[in-house]
Amino acid sequence: MSTLRHIPYGRQSIDDDDIAAVIEVLRSDWLTTGPTIEQFENDLASFVGSEHAVAVSSGTAALHAAMYAIGIGPGDEVIVPAITFAATANAAIYLGATPIFADVNPDTLLIDPGSVADRITTRTRAIVAVDYAGQPCDYDALRVIADRYHIPIIADACHALGGYYRQRAVGAVADLSTFSFHPVKHITTGEGGAITTKNYIWAQKMRYFRNHGITTDHRQRAEKGSWFYEMVDLGYNYRITDFQAALGRSQLKKLSRWVERRREIARRYNQIFADNPVIRPLAVMADVVHAYHLYVVQLAIDALRVDRNRIFSELRQCGIGVNVHYIPVYLHPYYRDRFGYGPGLCPNAETAFARILSLPIFPAMTDNDVDWVSETIINITRNYS
Ligand SMILES: *Cc1c(COP(=O)(O)O)cnc(C)c1O
Repeated sequence: MSTLRHIPYGRQSIDDDDIAAVIEVLRSDWLTTGPTIEQFENDLASFVGSEHAVAVSSGTAALHAAMYAIGIGPGDEVIVPAITFAATANAAIYLGATPIFADVNPDTLLIDPGSVADRITTRTRAIVAVDYAGQPCDYDALRVIADRYHIPIIADACHALGGYYRQRAVGAVADLSTFSFHPVKHITTGEGGAITTKNYIWAQKMRYFRNHGITTDHRQRAEKGSWFYEMVDLGYNYRITDFQAALGRSQLKKLSRWVERRREIARRYNQIFADNPVIRPLAVMADVVHAYHLYVVQLAIDALRVDRNRIFSELRQCGIGVNVHYIPVYLHPYYRDRFGYGPGLCPNAETAFARILSLPIFPAMTDNDVDWVSETIINITRNYS
């Protein structure tokens, strides 16, 4: 029996209300550039307490649009953390800029403000803070650096929707915050993303950037009875559809409950691992609400006779969908070849990379599932201690 059991590391939750919301839009006049997109944007902006939300086709498009809005271009440098999904750094390259990798705090794996300060040059144009696993970064420390050099902070908050930094919702802390609605994230639209900001000019730029650089969309022209439009800059088709926005609105209603359940699961894991000498959950800072997109532990590999990959594959064989988030981005072949990056650039990130495992966490996971995953990893690591 137990060999048939399988738990993924993450999984979407879709209910009948979500399905009904999508069907309603499919039967309406507007499948794209319609009114549901703006409604979703308004819902999202008010959820996070920001003025503007711009919905786009993915979290990657959101990062690209955010960097476009603040004017990132050739010759510029953008500081990003070593431990993140490649898209964070790729977005800077799309605009001709160079991603500069800052090291992470060894206990939280969040971007280390000290390392950011070390990486600032006269060409630095932005700091991208990734709320890794769902924990907000040390924004007060980052703000001191950003203000000193007059550069904006972009939060890659793709892991952290529903989190809080010092009483402020993720999405209203950085100058621009980007989100992803991929099925493993907190809420899903299939594919999709958004940016929140208090800056009206940036929001307007992102709205035309997602629409080929054209200043009016199809519905705005239809309302005016006009065919005229102008393309003011080179943009992309990064539009989200109305039926995706309908799914997003419906999902958003359940977000707070889901984040609460993720936090319960994390608390249960934390309690079980509290006295374990080889399984160490990442540290959580005071004064934050961690949204727990991921539940990451570091293995004390010095105390084990095998490496992380061995523990990983034994867990997979047991039907437990563990994962590794992430290989330091600069170690990917593309980054080594194009920028000459290599081992030694961010020592904390490289040490952590050899030790990390992401354990399953998603709202529909039961306490029994959590206990089974915990017992299994405890038993496997005990065999090699
Ligand atoms: C998911 C994710 C992205 C990209 O989002 P997509 O919607 O898949 O394009 C970017 N950054 C981080 C940290 C992510 O987790």
